[in-house]
Amino acid sequence: MGLNRKPHYRAGLVLVGDAGGMVNPFNGEGIGYAMESAKIASESIVQALARTGVNRERALHGYPVRIEQALGSYYRLGNVFSKLIGNPAVMRTATKYGMPRKRLMKLVLKLLAGLYDPKDGDSMDRLIVAATKLAPTA
Ligand SMILES: Cc1cc2nc3c(=O)[nH]c(=O)nc-3n(C[C@H](O)[C@H](O)[C@H](O)COP(=O)(O)OP(=O)(O)OC[C@H]3O[C@@H](n4cnc5c(N)ncnc54)[C@H](O)[C@@H]3O)c2cc1C
Repeated sequence: MGLNRKPHYRAGLVLVGDAGGMVNPFNGEGIGYAMESAKIASESIVQALARTGVNRERALHGYPVRIEQALGSYYRLGNVFSKLIGNPAVMRTATKYGMPRKRLMKLVLKLLAGLYDPKDGDSMDRLIVAATKLAPTA
């Protein structure tokens, strides 16, 4: 979960899906991410096959870079989130004071389900994007 299996490429081997820890730490979903990582991996492999030597390796090393771009900051935020809600006191407080607030719950739903638009979204989407940028690096 949360990209906890690295490196995603080394010595002719790419990790996709669960093998690469690509399960969403917010919600435990992994099917879409397994498919997305497989698509990125296959594109990198096609690029590599069209090249030779150092350029072939460079194409394969592009795979973890693209995975990081696609999932890295969102998953890091998810790792922080799942750690927080693992604390019963935090969970109790969040449930008591957060759940009755409709707008906050809409934001949380977008965040947990990954349903925000990173490019042309509304204020909630922009807030989530900002939060992902603040997530600590690995
Ligand atoms: C109970 C449960 C519920 C879930 N619910 C959801 C959900 O609702 N939505 C969602 O998005 N995700 C859900 N997930 C997560 C999702 O199932 C996984 O993230 C996703 O299936 C990962 O796909 P994958 O291709 O990486 O791995 P897998 O689907 O595990 O595929 C790996 C395949 O490799 C095979 N294999 C293993 N070793 C070898 C070997 N040595 N040689 C040949 N084959 C081998 C396995 O048999 C398996 O078929 C759930 C997971 C669990 C456990």
